Amino acid sequence: MAEPDNVSVDVVVVGAGIGGLAAARKLCAQGLSVAVLEARDRAGGRLLSTSESSIRLDLGATWFWPNEPRITELIKDLGLASFPQYISGDAMYETTEGTQRLVGNPIDVPSGRFLNGAQELAQVIAKELPSGVVRFDQPVSRILATRDEIQAHTPSGIFTADNLILAVPPALAVSSIKFNPVLPGKLFELSKNTPVWMGAITKVVAQYSEPFWRSDGLSGSAISYVGPMREIHDMSGPEGDPAALFGFAPSMTVGEPTVTAEKVLDQMSALFGPNAAKPEQFFISDWRQERFTSPPGVERLNSYELFGHSLYATPALGGRLHWASTETATENPGHIEGALAAAIRAANAVIKETEPPMSTSSSS
Ligand SMILES: Cc1cc2nc3c(=O)[nH]c(=O)nc-3n(C[C@H](O)[C@H](O)[C@H](O)COP(=O)(O)OP(=O)(O)OC[C@H]3O[C@@H](n4cnc5c(N)ncnc54)[C@H](O)[C@@H]3O)c2cc1C
Repeated sequence: MAEPDNVSVDVVVVGAGIGGLAAARKLCAQGLSVAVLEARDRAGGRLLSTSESSIRLDLGATWFWPNEPRITELIKDLGLASFPQYISGDAMYETTEGTQRLVGNPIDVPSGRFLNGAQELAQVIAKELPSGVVRFDQPVSRILATRDEIQAHTPSGIFTADNLILAVPPALAVSSIKFNPVLPGKLFELSKNTPVWMGAITKVVAQYSEPFWRSDGLSGSAISYVGPMREIHDMSGPEGDPAALFGFAPSMTVGEPTVTAEKVLDQMSALFGPNAAKPEQFFISDWRQERFTSPPGVERLNSYELFGHSLYATPALGGRLHWASTETATENPGHIEGALAAAIRAANAVIKETEPPMSTSSSS
């Protein structure tokens, strides 16, 4: 068996989602040595795009919004291509009484989309970081803090640092990582009860040969009180190529079976006509099943008021552990923008720690 790695850096970042990567980017730019430990074999976490089609279809996050300054700035900085979400035409509405065509589209608001899929955001940052910073297949199972240092243990190594940024949904962190010493009671309870944004959602994406709904004057949007999908939107590329629709099916009940393709396509056809029953490609992504996103019983977590709790902005374990997932943000928690806000807050706290103390004597 290979010898375990024993690596010492200034900062360990747990998680190569957009939060962990944005924090690492800022810390590396500051000249600090960083190891990003990622459990999966890919970057992006809840940013996940297919590689199968000419434009990458988003199975995780899709949109960013015009009032989100950090993501707008990052897209510009990285030189990524984006385009506006299609929102023209009428929306559909479904109740137990049947389907109804609305006049106009009261469902969608203007938003932006990533031309090459949202995951590109994470992949580009991971590539731009100095070689060896991002380490895949490194699930952290234990975090151990002493007076002098903090360690992250993975099956293949021990990573020691002065500070650690935990860029993992808090409820997942406390259910899958052992902390030594244990987290303070209030922080543990808070983390255990903080929902994972979209962690109990099944996202369905159907790709078609053409955006037939647009020819009928429909926007591709729908709200349903019947399900399985409660919300549907157009997910086509620019000029409708490739043509696609996507929907969200929430899991209201613990252990409720995943939606079936048959039920989803029946619902699509009821809303958008028989063409909707024949997608060229079809994806069902149940984020409850993603063990590096959602802890068991994620459906039970619904105290969204815990997002951005002040305890998440207070470094724990002797001031060495900093939180940075989107759930810990005070601004736009849940969104990519929130993950960036949390990452910047955590990275700034670490940078402040590493700065030499200010002289107490002042000439002014
Ligand atoms: C279906 C869906 C649709 C969404 N739509 C939108 C949208 O349109 N717009 C928007 O702004 N946001 C959207 N979101 C939310 C958005 O994806 C998240 O806000 C953002 O990606 C969170 O980033 P993060 O870095 O905080 O967490 P994550 O992306 O969850 O990253 C955490 C990382 O930590 C890793 N990890 C977990 N446990 C360990 C461990 N023990 N050791 C090491 N690594 C570990 C994970 O593999 C992951 O890579 C959506 C999410 C989903 C699921």
